[in-house]
Amino acid sequence: MANINGKTEFLQALNTCKTEGKSTVELYNEISSLAMQYGLSQARAPAERNAYYLSMEFLIGRSFFNNLMELGVLDETRELLKEKGVDINVFEEIEDAALGNGGLGRLAACFLDSAAGLDLPLHGYGIRYKYGLFKQAIENGFQVELPDDWQRFGDPWSVRKPREKRKIVFADMVVTAVPYDMPVFGKRVNVLRLWQAEGSAEAQKISEYLYPADDTEEGKLLRLRQEYFFSAAAVGELLDKHVKLHGKSFDSFADYNAIQLNDTHPVLAIAELIRVLTTKYKVAFGKAEEIAKKTFAYTNHTVMPEALECWGASLVKKILPDIYDVLLRLQESQTAEFKRLGCSEEEAADMAIYANDRFSMANLAVYVGRTVNGVAKLHTDILKSSLFKTAYKYYPDKFQNKTNGITQRRWLMLCNRELSDLLDKTIGTAWREDITHLGELNTHVDAALNGFVKVKAEKKKQLFAYIKKHEGAEIPENFIVYSQVKRLHEYKRQLMTAFAILEIYKGLADGTVKDFHPSVFVFGAKSAPSYKRAKAIIKFINEIANKVNSDTRTNALLRVVFVKNYNVSYAEKIVAGTDVSLQVSTAGLEASGTGNMKFMMNGAVTCGTMDGANIEIVELAGKENNYIFGAEVDEIERLKQGDYNPSAILKADALHSYAVNTLIDGTFSDDGTGGFQGLYDALTVGASWHKPDHYFVLHDLKSYVNALLQINADSNNEKAFAAKQIKNIANSAHFSSDRTIKEYAVDVWQI
Ligand SMILES: *Cc1c(COP(=O)(O)O)cnc(C)c1O
Repeated sequence: MANINGKTEFLQALNTCKTEGKSTVELYNEISSLAMQYGLSQARAPAERNAYYLSMEFLIGRSFFNNLMELGVLDETRELLKEKGVDINVFEEIEDAALGNGGLGRLAACFLDSAAGLDLPLHGYGIRYKYGLFKQAIENGFQVELPDDWQRFGDPWSVRKPREKRKIVFADMVVTAVPYDMPVFGKRVNVLRLWQAEGSAEAQKISEYLYPADDTEEGKLLRLRQEYFFSAAAVGELLDKHVKLHGKSFDSFADYNAIQLNDTHPVLAIAELIRVLTTKYKVAFGKAEEIAKKTFAYTNHTVMPEALECWGASLVKKILPDIYDVLLRLQESQTAEFKRLGCSEEEAADMAIYANDRFSMANLAVYVGRTVNGVAKLHTDILKSSLFKTAYKYYPDKFQNKTNGITQRRWLMLCNRELSDLLDKTIGTAWREDITHLGELNTHVDAALNGFVKVKAEKKKQLFAYIKKHEGAEIPENFIVYSQVKRLHEYKRQLMTAFAILEIYKGLADGTVKDFHPSVFVFGAKSAPSYKRAKAIIKFINEIANKVNSDTRTNALLRVVFVKNYNVSYAEKIVAGTDVSLQVSTAGLEASGTGNMKFMMNGAVTCGTMDGANIEIVELAGKENNYIFGAEVDEIERLKQGDYNPSAILKADALHSYAVNTLIDGTFSDDGTGGFQGLYDALTVGASWHKPDHYFVLHDLKSYVNALLQINADSNNEKAFAAKQIKNIANSAHFSSDRTIKEYAVDVWQI
């Protein structure tokens, strides 16, 4: 095959490519590898100073369409294939690479995209899981988990680099880490390097599954191995590279390398850097610690205590004895520093790396990290005022905010070509290069109105066709779309939406809700396999969907659809076709959210609480163009201190009683699993270690239903409602990950 080192050569090669008699998968691999040759030919010499994003997850989704777009050949490829009788959409058969769970992993993918798009040298390090996040089937309304064998379509977007493999040493086994490089195309070509574990059967297990269940001892051990495995591979490689380029003068290591720790999962990289420096290169411990303090920065993603990782000291000692020693020595130098700073005993304990026989990864990251950042203004404020309050007192300069973002290339240009074309016509094409130009839409709202209404209708039609194909559910064209798509978790309050739907349903059936614009509620969500209440909520929503969709009294007005296997590709369809974005987490618990940003950029109004980035969304797009309801953080705090009594709220409100009682009065069946009773109990008497209604569902339910009805009423004025939606698009540039990455590049990485 001729060398492909330009767009023309690529198109020529594509033109001579035979399509007859080939399967979709064969064609996919062939075209992708042509594009890879072209793309890789565009790579330039590496930068002097680089930043590295260490993340347990990269939720990249489908690469085919996005990479062709980034390489500037998507339209031509579409046309060429059409001439050959191939509809490019057949490649939607190729399933996503779901190497992540949700927002945190998708953020990592958006960041890499933005860095490449901005010509900034940021590279990713992660794990090449054999099986990504499980594929979700719904059987009789219940979630069923199936293995996600994403590599069965081939992996034409990766290059295996066997010569750059590394040895990762555990006390009880040695594992080979083999890198697979996925290029990230843009103004420059960056690399996402994913490590695959090879060796014995035990060794291979390390990169077999994304997040194995960690509620057993065995699962915990495997998880620890995974985290050390990719952190050590990354750090080892960067040190080798440094020695090769600059010799053993490690004083300059941090001049060339900035390492971002995406949440606590890669935090052992800190200990590994110090371990290698002190053992292999005989650097003094204090010096090694100093180098680490100049190299690492930490992003916190959650204040939920169960997600802040701590590792049992005996477990670490058993499989990583040298890391154990490093951690204890770090604890010693931390204690000495706290003395110098004059911290009280209590304060020192609060910030301790080692306490109660456990190592706190968050405290380690805060102690060593050059910077510590939250992912939305409110979240960073909460880090300063509560989670890391003591650290903020002694190290105020470390703390920064970096509000999350999403890449407009995938989440607007790729998933909504129709809207992109309308933007070109309305404000010109400058926004494609520099997203801040989107703001110009603010002064052209009227000009865009008719076009926007058409685009939204078209994207809705496409979404409904996709839902019909995948779920079998039919939704009439005139329906407005409310969507809540995100991982299933009690704090995200899908259950509150379910109750709200039941209340509206009842109102429609008995005539108390009038002049209702026909509406569909679209849910998409996966639950962690062992999370019982989350799984019960999925079943509950599916039971509601069955009842509501088959009730001929109301189903011309109200439908409910739970889409199975929600993933990046499904999200691309849903965000474009939605009118109302439901972002209803308990205030203070959603660190940022990024789904909210995707919807905003595609022209959905937000119906949400004052939480995470919702706050910044309404700050920029206007409260009058969105629908905010429910308790704010300070009220939630007051409720927690006071005697919040959800049962009293239930008793006092007949509609709430109706909705909540459907869990236990036989309206719906959970097939004897006890799941619905479990949900009911969590609301009324409390579950696990929590008080009743820990997430304040009943507190916010009334105002939520009112907000939903207000939106519904407003949507009857099509033009005025569309104007609100356009205002959201016009003010969404701030939520581009280009903005976030520029901030990191300047404030944290200096690249
Ligand atoms: C954006 C995205 C998320 C994050 O959604 P949130 O609403 O911010 O929780 C999760 N999963 C997928 C597939 C996404 O694309």
